[in-house]
Amino acid sequence: MPAFALEPEQHKWCEELRTLGARELRPLAEAGEEGRINRELVAALGELGLLGRLFAPDGRPASALDLCLLRESLAYSCTEAETALALQGLGAGPVALAGTDAQRARWLGEVTSGRAVAAFALSEPGAGSDAAALGLQAEPDGTGAGHGWRLTGEKTWISNAPHADVFTVFARTTQGAGSRGVSAFLVPAGRPGLGGEPLEMLSPHPIGTLTFDGVPVSRDDLLGEADGGFGVAMRTLNLFRPSVGAFATGMAQAALDAAVEHAGERRAFGGTLSDLQAVSHQLAETATRIEAARLMVYAAAAAHDRGEPDIARRAAMAKLLATETAQQAVDTAVQIHGAAALQRGHLLEHLYREVRAPRIYEGASEVQRSIIAKELYR
Ligand SMILES: Cc1cc2nc3c(=O)[nH]c(=O)nc-3n(C[C@H](O)[C@H](O)[C@H](O)COP(=O)(O)OP(=O)(O)OC[C@H]3O[C@@H](n4cnc5c(N)ncnc54)[C@H](O)[C@@H]3O)c2cc1C
Repeated sequence: MPAFALEPEQHKWCEELRTLGARELRPLAEAGEEGRINRELVAALGELGLLGRLFAPDGRPASALDLCLLRESLAYSCTEAETALALQGLGAGPVALAGTDAQRARWLGEVTSGRAVAAFALSEPGAGSDAAALGLQAEPDGTGAGHGWRLTGEKTWISNAPHADVFTVFARTTQGAGSRGVSAFLVPAGRPGLGGEPLEMLSPHPIGTLTFDGVPVSRDDLLGEADGGFGVAMRTLNLFRPSVGAFATGMAQAALDAAVEHAGERRAFGGTLSDLQAVSHQLAETATRIEAARLMVYAAAAAHDRGEPDIARRAAMAKLLATETAQQAVDTAVQIHGAAALQRGHLLEHLYREVRAPRIYEGASEVQRSIIAKELYR
């Protein structure tokens, strides 16, 4: 399949998702509290079968392209629903990729039904972009080959923390070994010693800190091999990176459509704003950039699904271009709307707050450029 040609059924699915987002999910999002987990919204995503699209029937991650179409379409009409869906996938992604049958059986059904909320806990106050520098300690607890660990330290900027039901937590099991000394653990809420606080962000995003005061974890909680957790984190992020671009593309398209409509109706200087070439050329430029970003996102996702070797470069380019384009598209749409766009509750005011973070998380734009440059010299 050429990466740029969606099948008619895929187009139809995207249309349906946009409508579902506007009619069924947006009212639930609006009824929720900004910056807190919206359990009604998560449950609805489960009941509508959308969370079920995150994982294949055998519990492995589903197609990256499907994930992109889902995220782009939901982002167009309800960013909160998009984010709730993406966070379920990110939080449970390590279970799907590296979990045992028992771990998958315990958690994936709960997460895809929307009954359990998942979180992915990698970042720390001292380790953001440089995630391999993480310092959350996993100290051996007990003796012999079957020993467990106790987790001590802090995580921050963790989406869905501290009130998620299950956390995939990356901790240091071997000192001084960098990325080779990190293990992934499944930590259910309520473990003794686990705490945390919500954080308030610019965007309406549920996020917080996690504190670990000797939290016990056993071999049954280990995801994949001991000291093999960094690879689990990176494989999860590789799957999700193009779809962050899809989230951005959905927001960019919503902003552009709003600007096209507004400029076509707003009267000024004896005509409409769209009669002014200074305005219409901005719309044309924005539409072109969004289309380029969308194609790159689809191409990266399709390359991921085909198991092609250049996925790191493609995913980095797609995330970089799409998130930077979305920022520009939303800003342009705000400018074309004038003051009305800045009023609380306006679609563009909402998108303006939403569009900023994806240029920072899952690898800041500068980190994506470093990945692309490294690939050029490989
Ligand atoms: C809304 C939101 C949700 C998040 N959700 C999660 C989550 O669920 N789980 C999780 O683990 N983390 C999450 N994060 C954290 C996110 O992954 C980090 O913010 C990100 O990795 C960057 O780390 P930092 O913020 O500490 O910035 P730093 O690492 O301190 O970087 C700051 C800036 O320095 C520059 N920079 C950094 N490295 C380089 C480089 N190599 N080359 C050039 N410039 C560079 C970039 O401009 C970067 O923005 C979330 C963040 C946000 C904003």
